[in-house]
Amino acid sequence: MQVLLAEEYGFCFGVERAVEMVEGALAEGATVRTLGPLIHNTQEIQRLEAEGVRNINAPGEVSEGETAVIRAHGVTPEVQRELEERAERVIDATCPFVTKVQKLAERAAAEGRDVVVVGNPDHPEMIGVRGYAPTRAHVVRDASEVAQLPPLHAPLVVSQTTLKLSTFLEVAEAVRERADSEPQVVNTICSATRDRQDAARALAGHVDAFYVIGGKHSSNSLKLLSVCKEQCEKSFLIETPEEISAEDLRDAGRVGVTAGASTPDWLIEQVVTRLREIGSRQ
Ligand code: SF4
Repeated sequence: MQVLLAEEYGFCFGVERAVEMVEGALAEGATVRTLGPLIHNTQEIQRLEAEGVRNINAPGEVSEGETAVIRAHGVTPEVQRELEERAERVIDATCPFVTKVQKLAERAAAEGRDVVVVGNPDHPEMIGVRGYAPTRAHVVRDASEVAQLPPLHAPLVVSQTTLKLSTFLEVAEAVRERADSEPQVVNTICSATRDRQDAARALAGHVDAFYVIGGKHSSNSLKLLSVCKEQCEKSFLIETPEEISAEDLRDAGRVGVTAGASTPDWLIEQVVTRLREIGSRQ
């Protein structure tokens, strides 16, 4: 039985960078506190907890002498300041792709322009970005919400990094109709999610079974699963290698593997090893 990995899988650049920054601080002996879970993967969180990393829910929970970590989603400038006042050291692991959105919004607001951000207003990334343009930012989920905005002055249109391109383009068009001048439209969608889906799709037609490794409630893992299922009926979403059933692989000649952007390499390796073990017994 052949085990084939999709061309793109697992940690995205921003998550990998954040985990490496935490590992670096631990190696220096820091007491690390992350503001919100560093990553949406239970097994990786448990591994970090075993190394002493704790999650906090507000800057007020940082104690003297501790190192506070801002995760890849970023935070508002106000929260960053609070952390800097309380923590011995602040590690800013905001993904550079998110920082770009924050800086664009900040600059446009400073010029007195409106900022339309397409995304989920409750998502931590959006809460952070809004903080960079508090009086000028309007977060909308889709084009239908643009009609409720006030008239827009020289707007900038940017997006949450994980948004669908079609939603972003529809909003940009709706903003054009409400603006007093041609909007500045900057596509800030990150390709990590789409790249993983495209790679899974390319492999799914060539395998007899497909394993997607990721959280059972993670929307990006569920999306990967549905992409695989389109071409490979025997596609499974698993969190750990223990969930693989040898029975499901009885007649499989080729098995595909992919993983969501929050799944660590060590977990992917465990799954691949388990599949090879099953294959060697067939
Ligand atoms: S999905 Fe993209 S924007 Fe988000 S953390 Fe990963 S690399 Fe950064």
